[in-house]
Amino acid sequence: ISSNICIEEHRICVCVRKRPLNKKELTIRDLDVITIPSKDVVMVHEPKQKVDLTRYLENQTFRFDYAFDDSTTNEMVYRFTARPLVETIFERGMATCFAYGQTGSGKTHTMGGDFSGKNQDCSKGIYALASRDVFVMLKKPCHKKLDLQVYATFFEIYSGKVFDLLNGKAKLRVLEDGKQQVQVVGLHERDVKCTEDVLKLIEVGNSCRTSGQTSANAHSSRSHAVFQIILRRKGKMHGKFSLIDLAGNERGADTSSADRQTRLEGAEINKSLLALKECIRALGRNKPHTPFRASKLTQVLRDSFIGENSRTCMIATISPGMTSCENTLNTLRYANRVKEL
Ligand code: ADP
Ligand code: MG
Repeated sequence: ISSNICIEEHRICVCVRKRPLNKKELTIRDLDVITIPSKDVVMVHEPKQKVDLTRYLENQTFRFDYAFDDSTTNEMVYRFTARPLVETIFERGMATCFAYGQTGSGKTHTMGGDFSGKNQDCSKGIYALASRDVFVMLKKPCHKKLDLQVYATFFEIYSGKVFDLLNGKAKLRVLEDGKQQVQVVGLHERDVKCTEDVLKLIEVGNSCRTSGQTSANAHSSRSHAVFQIILRRKGKMHGKFSLIDLAGNERGADTSSADRQTRLEGAEINKSLLALKECIRALGRNKPHTPFRASKLTQVLRDSFIGENSRTCMIATISPGMTSCENTLNTLRYANRVKEL
């Protein structure tokens, strides 16, 4: 199969990735309710009970551009999702890749990689894999003569505010000028020369992201992380690849939460994920009106949702367990809506 297939015809590629059952799920004997019978189909076997207490499975089928089962490596997921978009930024385009899903479903594993040492294989994520290929492409004679420079930014959007992860979490302002250009004022763009430079930045950004937090996952579940690879030619923007590890999409519990701050954060996350869906859909339908102003996330990513040469890919990550069934179905429905024209 050619890894270019998914964007030949579409500017939007939507994929699903199932992770393996984790230790905790195995301990409580959680059931794996997800099967991937072919390379683009996901089936959910939802356990239900009738009024007379007979148990049965309700099977729901979803189709996507690609469905990756729990044996798929980051490298393979990358090959069919973000890899085809690397070309776009050399052709003066905007590329965006989102990881969307419930907390604990594998967004950070997919995007940032896994360097915790908890997993046996410390695997690189899409941030690093895409950067690697940008440096490979840069060496091609046709690109060499363009004299392009590579920069990286890494920031976080938390409760509608932007923080620079490569500059001690400095709070940044977002401005829109008269020509509708959106600018994150003072965002640090680091000069990068090789994949190792990028890996160092990911480490710096990640430790900055979680510093002062009691739990790394509690914080990251409520914030969007944006890692960007920017190509510049004589200082001018040539192309940009935005790689986004979104806030967890599970928000049901928040509505009943007594904590006002938590509820507000939850509402902000819901708003941004809804706006994101509409913006991607608008891109796919070439709609002139893109509701990017509806949230800070979509406002900051504005230039990715407009223009002839914008391409997007979404990786919806899902947990296999029965205990996650409701969130998994929500994730699959959202991904379906993004794809549906
Ligand atoms: P999220 O960022 O969506 O909250 P994480 O990426 O942190 O979730 O994943 C939660 C846990 O599951 C981590 O310990 C991670 O190592 C593990 N994990 C996630 N996806 C996979 C996968 N495809 N294969 C193996 N382990 C995974
Ligand atoms: Mg995470």
